[in-house]
Amino acid sequence: MIFQHNRRLSSLSCQLFSRYIFGNGNCCAKLRPTSRPFSVSAQCRIMELTGFSQEQLDVRDAIAKICSDFPDEYWAERDESGIYPQELHAALARDGWIGIALPEDLGGAGLGISEATMMLQTISQSGAGIAGAQSVHANVYATQPVAKFATEEQRKRMLPRLISGEFKACFGVTEPSTGLETLKLRTHARRDGDSYSISGQKIWISSAQVASKMILLARTTPLEDVKKPSEGLSLFFIDFNKNAPGLELKRIKKMGGRAVDANEVFFDDYRVPVDTRIGEEGQGFKIVLHGMNAERCLLAGEALGLGYVALEKAAKYAQERVVFGRPIGQNQGIQHPLAAAYMNLEAAKLATYHAARVYDSSGKDSNITPHAVGVACNSAKYLAAEAAFIACERAVLAHGGMGYAQEYHVERYLRECFVPRIAPVSREMIMNYVGEKVLGLPRSY
Ligand SMILES: Cc1cc2nc3c(=O)[nH]c(=O)nc-3n(C[C@H](O)[C@H](O)[C@H](O)COP(=O)(O)OP(=O)(O)OC[C@H]3O[C@@H](n4cnc5c(N)ncnc54)[C@H](O)[C@@H]3O)c2cc1C
Repeated sequence: MIFQHNRRLSSLSCQLFSRYIFGNGNCCAKLRPTSRPFSVSAQCRIMELTGFSQEQLDVRDAIAKICSDFPDEYWAERDESGIYPQELHAALARDGWIGIALPEDLGGAGLGISEATMMLQTISQSGAGIAGAQSVHANVYATQPVAKFATEEQRKRMLPRLISGEFKACFGVTEPSTGLETLKLRTHARRDGDSYSISGQKIWISSAQVASKMILLARTTPLEDVKKPSEGLSLFFIDFNKNAPGLELKRIKKMGGRAVDANEVFFDDYRVPVDTRIGEEGQGFKIVLHGMNAERCLLAGEALGLGYVALEKAAKYAQERVVFGRPIGQNQGIQHPLAAAYMNLEAAKLATYHAARVYDSSGKDSNITPHAVGVACNSAKYLAAEAAFIACERAVLAHGGMGYAQEYHVERYLRECFVPRIAPVSREMIMNYVGEKVLGLPRSY
């Protein structure tokens, strides 16, 4: 039982699940089911479920039920129109899923990144893909450092309305001139009495068009004045008010996942109160790392979901499509690449849920070092992204010409599966990290 957790569902989570299973937000409705229980686990889906905890399977069933209201055609249309899937966000928020990994005292479900990863995987695997998952992604992981490092007053002010879906948050780290060299980022927040003045530029900020909050990493002490580049950065949870002076956005046209906007963000003396800073000034990098490792797990889950749904579609097509008097799936040239892609996904799944478990346990078990968490989360993200890419590419090829047609959806998955290979950290940087920190090789970057 490799993924088994001893943790039992909290009473809040039980309420949360009963809303799904019984189709009514009122907990008392448990006795008056309005619809038959829905179990995706019982359906013939290709991912092997042995070893998952009951909580993870319950999450999977409940999320799959919500996603069943959003068919492939919905996602194909949103990919064309670029309109944010507000309906999915609202459906997830209505029953408390945005706060799946946030504390119960704030209205969250008090579960862990292991369950949140399953949630994001299930959204992606429903056919919503990376776009569907990214519509809630930042709200789930970027809030982790806020829940852990903010003051009690800040947590109460910042998180409940995000959990309820009233607010959406975006995450602002990447910058155009510094890229993956995060510690050199140039956006600065200058203290001026009771406020900070923020100036600088961010890029690739997902959901910024629909977000009213931003979790922002900015430099508060110039690089030349700190002992180590990881010092002097601070984390903020700010109002992201597009009507206020000093804030502008420009949408980026992109290859895939178009339902969720990506943006350049320009700050020019944008004012935020001092009490939007999370934790000590200058300690922001250490704080944000807590969310970054969680994000690697979620994105690994999203990649897995995409890989599995692509393979499901490929296997179905290979059964049905007859050429030369037999199903194309009878040819080993079609069958074997799909079988190998499946085994890659299964291996990446083990790495992903291992990483999520290590992350969740790290706060409670002092034997789990930050190094162990970092290696596990980075490795999982790498392996899942590569496994998804192989599965999506082979799914397109197994469809022949129809793999190139929008109607079969696998071309959309192939376009989307580049995201986990690039973000939030690239394949190359993960290999740099493992080469240096695990193998002890000279630092190459
Ligand atoms: C769809 C999408 C959504 C995103 N959403 C967000 C978001 O919401 N918030 C946010 O802050 N960011 C977001 N990002 C940004 C993402 O995290 C960055 O694109 C990613 O970290 C890579 O940074 P970069 O694009 O600047 O690449 P660069 O740093 O310019 O690197 C370019 C290439 O060079 C390689 N490279 C660079 N240096 C080395 C080296 N020393 N050794 C080997 N290879 C190297 C990299 O691996 C990469 O392949 C998003 C990106 C995408 C594509």
